[in-house]
Amino acid sequence: MPVGTYGAVKSLEVNDLKQIGSQIILGNTFHLNLRPSLDIISHFKGLHNFINWQAPILTDSGGFQVFSLGKLRKITEEGVQFRSPINGDKLFISPEKSIDIQHQLGSDIIMVFDECTPYPATYHEVEKSMQLSMRWAKRCYDFHHTNTQDHGTKRGALFPIIQGGMHLDLRKNSIEMLQEIEYKGQYNEFKGMALGGFSVGEPMELMYKTLSEIMPFVPTDKPRYLMGVGRPLDILHSISCGVDMFDCVLPSRNARNGNLFTWQGILKLRNARYKKDDKPIDENCTCLACQHYSRAYLHHLDKINESLGDRLCTIHNLHFYHELTAQARLAIEENHFNQFHQHNQHLHNPIA
Ligand SMILES: [Zn+2]
Repeated sequence: MPVGTYGAVKSLEVNDLKQIGSQIILGNTFHLNLRPSLDIISHFKGLHNFINWQAPILTDSGGFQVFSLGKLRKITEEGVQFRSPINGDKLFISPEKSIDIQHQLGSDIIMVFDECTPYPATYHEVEKSMQLSMRWAKRCYDFHHTNTQDHGTKRGALFPIIQGGMHLDLRKNSIEMLQEIEYKGQYNEFKGMALGGFSVGEPMELMYKTLSEIMPFVPTDKPRYLMGVGRPLDILHSISCGVDMFDCVLPSRNARNGNLFTWQGILKLRNARYKKDDKPIDENCTCLACQHYSRAYLHHLDKINESLGDRLCTIHNLHFYHELTAQARLAIEENHFNQFHQHNQHLHNPIA
């Protein structure tokens, strides 16, 4: 899922996204609530209308900002008191408030409000944080089911988030607690299962190991979503563990920094060797940028900070990510995923 924090995947418009095959995008509850504000999005009867994107939207709950805003927030049982990073205004987000905002946005996939546990943290801190997130998940679940207010938007599907840091036992506890909410609640409101608290500064080997250990315990009857990951090989490893869904700013952010993903490895567009290179970014790629433009021209656009360069490079990187997951899916269907995975171990190396 391409990330469009403020309701735009940076430098692209919806037709670009449709053309590269994006079926769903991610928006950010916390940021959209600040800018343009709920008042404005509600005026348009939801985010889909406001941004003219009629395909699915997933919104994160603001939980990640509990983590990323560090000193700008204070956590209590009731919720989180934030300071706006824009003007310093106080804002309070509770589990109920987060779900209500997501209802007003009209999200198709709504995430529970949680505390994304930082890394490193002591075992006790991780346990406390996970348990708070599970109590909040229950409140989200109840509120999602009982909120009858009609905002003129459709009601999306709620995904809970497994926490527990890098500790297998805490992660397993978290899964059990989420299942208990569901069995006791009897509403059948959890439509997927997400894994949060990864890619927050831990060594990658540790993430790989924890993910490999926990995935066999994550229920398989719903889509399994790993939040905020990652590089192409992180995605392939996670797929090998059974993950179905991903979001990450990396393909779009790297595109704007001139780091392009290809089947041969990473192409650093700012390298002087591309000044006169008439080849496309990737000869096997069918994206708009590769069909019509040379590395030399894209190198030039980057050098003069031309926004067309950002757009073309973002189109290419997102196209590559869609292609990567499409090829992975095909390999699974044809029963040679491990071979496909092994074959592509060079994807993070610089292009030869
Ligand atoms: Zn391309």
